[in-house]
Amino acid sequence: MGNDPMLKIDKKIVGYKVVDKTEEKVVFEMIHENFPRPPHLTGTTYKIKTPQSEHALYITINDMVLNGDERHPYEMFINSKNMEHFQWVLALTRLVSAVWRKGGDSTFLVEELKNVFDPKGGYYKRGGVYMPSLVAEIGTVIEQHLKSIGVIKVEVDVHQQAYLEAKKEEAKGVEMQLCTKCNTKALILMDGCMTCTNCGDSKCQ
Ligand SMILES: [Zn+2]
Repeated sequence: MGNDPMLKIDKKIVGYKVVDKTEEKVVFEMIHENFPRPPHLTGTTYKIKTPQSEHALYITINDMVLNGDERHPYEMFINSKNMEHFQWVLALTRLVSAVWRKGGDSTFLVEELKNVFDPKGGYYKRGGVYMPSLVAEIGTVIEQHLKSIGVIKVEVDVHQQAYLEAKKEEAKGVEMQLCTKCNTKALILMDGCMTCTNCGDSKCQ
């Protein structure tokens, strides 16, 4: 009980926040809009090819590296020969980069983008993954990146993964239904329940 309940505050209160001592929160608070641009950034480029355009899209995400090996996304660029969506894509990359530079938890961006549906209809990726829009695919790439650098934690149950892998192998050649959770054609009937061999979602749970 180190807090003095009678602590007197002389200055005008302009804001407050609840102290959360988890490590992640400390890092989030460390990054803020006045954080100096790091002299060195580490970039990763992802290629997106949709059936909607003959030209590929190249997404580059630059991370800053803190405390030796901690990576935090800092900015995003998108390049393509296809200029059709150029102004919207540019606006999107600037907004996403601005959110990252402000600090705080930015993982909500992934869900927001993945929930954008193209009124003209989406498309299927190789492997049967349904993409509701190009924006959703950009969101998926960001998610993939954030998972790879550990900003989004991935919980993997090794045994369940192996079991699903085996079931998927058994079901090869069978037309599988679309899983509404991970948007992949991977649903099979397992012990009387429709189960997704990609994400493990089961309708009986
Ligand atoms: Zn699934």
